[in-house]
Amino acid sequence: MFLALAVVGIATAAATGGAPGDAELLDGRTPSADRPRDAWTVIGRSVKGRPILALRVGGARAPVKVVVVGSVHGNEPAGKAVVARLRRARPPRGTALWLVEDANPDGAAAGTRHNANGVDLNRNFPYRWRPQDGVYESGPGPASEPETQAIQRFVEQERPRVTLWYHQALHVVVRSAGDAKLQRVYSHLSGLPRRTLPAYHGTATSWQNHDFPDDTAFVVELPGGPLPAAGVRRHARAVLQLARSVAPPRIVQRPIPFGDERKTDMRAYAGRHYGIDDYRLRDPKVIVEHYTVTDSFPPVYDTFAPNRPDPELHELPGICSHYVVDRDGTIYQPVSTKIMCRHTVGLNYTAIGIEHVGRSDGQVLGNARQMAASLRLTRTLQGRYGIRTRNVIGHNESLSSPFHRERVPSLRTQTHGDMRRSTMNRYRARLERMPAPASLR
Ligand SMILES: [Zn+2]
Repeated sequence: MFLALAVVGIATAAATGGAPGDAELLDGRTPSADRPRDAWTVIGRSVKGRPILALRVGGARAPVKVVVVGSVHGNEPAGKAVVARLRRARPPRGTALWLVEDANPDGAAAGTRHNANGVDLNRNFPYRWRPQDGVYESGPGPASEPETQAIQRFVEQERPRVTLWYHQALHVVVRSAGDAKLQRVYSHLSGLPRRTLPAYHGTATSWQNHDFPDDTAFVVELPGGPLPAAGVRRHARAVLQLARSVAPPRIVQRPIPFGDERKTDMRAYAGRHYGIDDYRLRDPKVIVEHYTVTDSFPPVYDTFAPNRPDPELHELPGICSHYVVDRDGTIYQPVSTKIMCRHTVGLNYTAIGIEHVGRSDGQVLGNARQMAASLRLTRTLQGRYGIRTRNVIGHNESLSSPFHRERVPSLRTQTHGDMRRSTMNRYRARLERMPAPASLR
């Protein structure tokens, strides 16, 4: 909660400029641009000059991209049917699929594993490359092949959060570096068990997972032969669920006025309480969860908007939190996370505040939609700022945070009753079951 006392907000704010929003978390800014729309791109050419094509499904500005490669060994084509089906998919808000039907068009035309130079492209990537002959012919040097180079440029440019490479015919999801939870999501939905394979040299996934450790690339080994229609549907659904599990939360911007006067007040507060000469929130280390002691969002906004002394501590600036999660799961953002808010004594210099509309821990924890939004928001912020799960705390846990500091002696033991340890232990356990924070950054 943001006040110890119930207060009826009287909005008297003089608008002197709004706080900037968080563009990174803003998906769906232009709904029309998020409609699926075909946009073939030639990302490179094969040895024989065949185009390597990628198709974006979803908005050009979607912050989270999922790449699906239908085939890279020319004699393992089953994944192309999944890619074909995904062309008609509607990816989750804030995500776009990039479909590479065939990374080895010469091999596909010849029905061979290798490219036209006789190279196994999935042994030609530069991480842990070593010279190999025969079926694993690695090429004369790391990334010697134009197909390899095309995929490298594409990945470096698009920075997919998740990349899926279809192969045949081992009938497994291959355990690899990157976010294991995402591999489990795919394994669960596709019905393919997750298994470890030998650590091959020069593979695409090991290069991606090594060079882009916050992203996840893994191999799906489909069964032999063409995939039946039900299998195509099941795998397409698994890809979309993967996209859903890394989709950013939708944030509704509701900026309160945070002009020069309020910034000056915040800076003076940070000086008095923390010895910090700044109003900006730099490198936040803690997320504090609260509940509002209201039944809706408007009175919360009306309390945050005016810059007036709070009725409990009689200080300026006015209190606020960075986010408010409503009971229907809508996430509002009143203040940019680049600015300090007064929401938790002792932690405002380093903590992002998240309020939940509600009147008790149990009410918030028992609301599935509100919790789903809250967990997704918190996990995304953890990824974005590298915040540990143990530093996602309830307001009532503020005094035991290792980051707690307070220069005003009378406030050193001040906290509020919202979001107690027992509540937060359950909240943190649910956070830990989600994809890794880096995947959701
Ligand atoms: Zn609170």
